[in-house]
Amino acid sequence: MPDAVQKSPSSTPVGVDTNRASIARVYDAALNGTNNYEIDREVLRQVATVAPEVNDLAWANRNFLIRACRFLATQGKVTQYLDCGSGLPTAENTHQVVQRLQPDARVLYVDNDPVVLAHGRALLEENPQTRFVEADIFDPKQVLENTTVREFLDWDQPIALIQNGTLHHYLGADYADLMVSYTDALASGSFVVVAHFLDPQTPEHSEIARRMEEKFTHSPMGSGVFRTWDQIATMFGGTRLVDPGLVLCEDWWPDGPRYTELNQVQECIAGGVGRKA
Ligand code: SAM
Repeated sequence: MPDAVQKSPSSTPVGVDTNRASIARVYDAALNGTNNYEIDREVLRQVATVAPEVNDLAWANRNFLIRACRFLATQGKVTQYLDCGSGLPTAENTHQVVQRLQPDARVLYVDNDPVVLAHGRALLEENPQTRFVEADIFDPKQVLENTTVREFLDWDQPIALIQNGTLHHYLGADYADLMVSYTDALASGSFVVVAHFLDPQTPEHSEIARRMEEKFTHSPMGSGVFRTWDQIATMFGGTRLVDPGLVLCEDWWPDGPRYTELNQVQECIAGGVGRKA
């Protein structure tokens, strides 16, 4: 029996088109999750024809997010989080990481995928310090003017704004302005987290980045832009990057010494954390 029909019909939220890949479900498949369909897994198989380690893009992205959240909750003492493009619930979601370290932390997730919203809301039913909002994260006004966003977070206090693994799905050229619209709304002492597909512009890795981009953008998922270091550096909305700056996700405060070399895919995703003065 094909995987896609193993799920009961009731596991497919109303309004979901199982013939179209979704960003969140493709990402879930890359992280070995179970909330994805055949069309989503096919996107990864297509990218794997040029980059067999494609799933490591997702793992590098996710593991960076977890480490960044630990940093924000401990050293940053941040108790408010606006996580844009939350993705499907997996292990170590933002609220689980930060509330373990800062029990009073509030986390507000924003996404526009109906599967994410259904699973997210179910997961959070019992958690009064976490909310899920449906909005377009590439329309800052829509997010910032949302009533729940305004009322659940205290905008006079620092907030960690997270755009992790999201902006490479934005095809416009005004991503820097988009991020400024967000950071302008943040109080002093706030943080910005960004992880993004990278074209390292080196002879060894640029080719693989371009080939993955080609596969992602021509897949039923339709997006996945590999931008340069300089382009990604403009996405922190004028905040000052904390040490070690914008680096490969795998190089941002790794959990231990490196015993194995990075593969070609791990060289193609970068991240950083900025702090607003
Ligand atoms: N941030 C999570 C992480 O780093 O593990 C998930 C990243 S996942 C690759 C990108 C998420 O962004 C997906 O859940 C997708 O539904 C969401 N997303 C993409 N475009 C969006 C949009 N325009 N508005 C809201 N969410 C969006």
